[in-house]
Amino acid sequence: MKVWIFLDLREGMEYRGLRMAEAQDIKINEIFFSIQGESSWAGYPTVFVRTSGCHLRCTYCDTTYAYHAGEKMSVDAIMDKVQSFPAAYVCITGGEPLLQPAVYGLMSRLCDLNYHVSLETSGDKPCGAVDPRVKKIIDVKTPDSGEPDCFHLDNLRFADRETEFKFVICSERDFTWAEKFALENKLFEKSNVLYSPSFKNLEARWLAEKILVEKSKARMQVQLHKYIWSPDARGV
Ligand code: SF4
Repeated sequence: MKVWIFLDLREGMEYRGLRMAEAQDIKINEIFFSIQGESSWAGYPTVFVRTSGCHLRCTYCDTTYAYHAGEKMSVDAIMDKVQSFPAAYVCITGGEPLLQPAVYGLMSRLCDLNYHVSLETSGDKPCGAVDPRVKKIIDVKTPDSGEPDCFHLDNLRFADRETEFKFVICSERDFTWAEKFALENKLFEKSNVLYSPSFKNLEARWLAEKILVEKSKARMQVQLHKYIWSPDARGV
């Protein structure tokens, strides 16, 4: 008997059915070993598992190559690949990882092996089914992201010291909006709040000065990997 499950991919209100028998595969864009460039785990040697596919189209997206390209891999094959690298940290990123149901089991299996696992997600997919051992890096899309108002409010319940809410700031308007959102939802009191300057649109120095002048409680981050290697480099 074929059992069908359905994913809401949002884009064009498309619904795609996946046979349960296929749900153990994940479409992967790339798996590589590098230095974590973001979050409070920045600097740690990390294996990145980049899933293929994203339903959003952020103006500053630097992984457009992951929108479609990729190969299906079994969770077992992904586990083997991850374990071939000498890392204690694994970052599940995309694209949007939570579009693919087998990602949840992959994260749990990695946690079972005592990896430090983080998930980078766009914020408009609820994280309720994510293994609680996983550090969630949840985006909050600002007005100038091109995908405003997509944040799934259910994700506010994960506001704790283990969760990080990331705002990519493109402009002064974005900064003002982010401060309002974070204050209204008491994110500064409960969680790590990350402000990251959009590499294309905003000078890091402008954001640094703004945080100081406005006495923001946000933690500024830059995309460390773009300073170590070329900003356009892939797989590093
Ligand atoms: S959610 Fe991430 S991968 Fe998707 S378009 Fe936005 S920046 Fe790109």
